[in-house]
Amino acid sequence: MNFARITGYSLILATLLATTIGSSQESKEKPLRIIAFGAHPDDAEFRLSGCAAKWTALGHKVKFVSVTNGDIGHWKESGGALAKRRIAEVEEAARRLGIEVEVLDIHDGEIMPTLENRKIIARLIREWDADIVITHRPYDYHPDHRNAGLLVRDAAFMIRVPFYVPDTPAIQHATTFLYFYDRFTTPYPFKADIAVSIDDVFDKKLDAIDALASQVYEGGALGTEKTLTQRFAGDEIMRKKFLTKSWQNRDGNIADKFRESLVKWYGEEKGNEAKYAEVFEICEYAHQPGEAEIKRLFPFFD
Ligand SMILES: [Zn+2]
Repeated sequence: MNFARITGYSLILATLLATTIGSSQESKEKPLRIIAFGAHPDDAEFRLSGCAAKWTALGHKVKFVSVTNGDIGHWKESGGALAKRRIAEVEEAARRLGIEVEVLDIHDGEIMPTLENRKIIARLIREWDADIVITHRPYDYHPDHRNAGLLVRDAAFMIRVPFYVPDTPAIQHATTFLYFYDRFTTPYPFKADIAVSIDDVFDKKLDAIDALASQVYEGGALGTEKTLTQRFAGDEIMRKKFLTKSWQNRDGNIADKFRESLVKWYGEEKGNEAKYAEVFEICEYAHQPGEAEIKRLFPFFD
């Protein structure tokens, strides 16, 4: 028996073990980094503000990116002035949520899945060193939603390739790509792989969305003069009531529609009690997290 070799081997093993334990402790303490790409300055806020509030409350880092500047998203105003207004709106929403936000200078209604745009998205994901990336499914009524979804989905593999956009270092760890909820059924309906109850942060979500007045109270691209009256644009108390009712309906319907997934993640009692939910589908072109990893990425289920 060669004692020296065994000892040397054991030493290497011990060092390796220490390194592994060290890095796993480090990864436990390291905040999660989540980046979400919406096509317009409201999409990520509408679909993810509840989870964003939950993540930030636990010290994790969240960033929303709007791939367009929203400059035609209103029935009465447009252009640079509208883009500025909408940037200010999402900045205020981000301030209320405690997250970061960025609005890309691409015209609303004009996102194309070009190589240049894919590189922009890949750089943003890498710079954020994302553990989770969330976007639209490329099956959606709005061409900007589809194209933003395509751009992000097509970056899923490329962010790990070192010689793709080599000016930004490739991501070395697993990144999970997810889709926001949508109601479309062609080519297949949305699958709620992950369902999160947002009951405890529902007011915080409303508070963030309340900052997006051009959309929620004035009706965005398809509003009219009548919308202003219907949504009580001038009356703060009535406005809050309108907002609360709309989002109780919207996120309440999601909870009812995906009750099975809520029960899967929270158990029978809590899953059935949940009133409002945000749900996500796992993109199959990137890392596939198992149940334990999903619980680490969404530390909300206990
Ligand atoms: Zn949109």
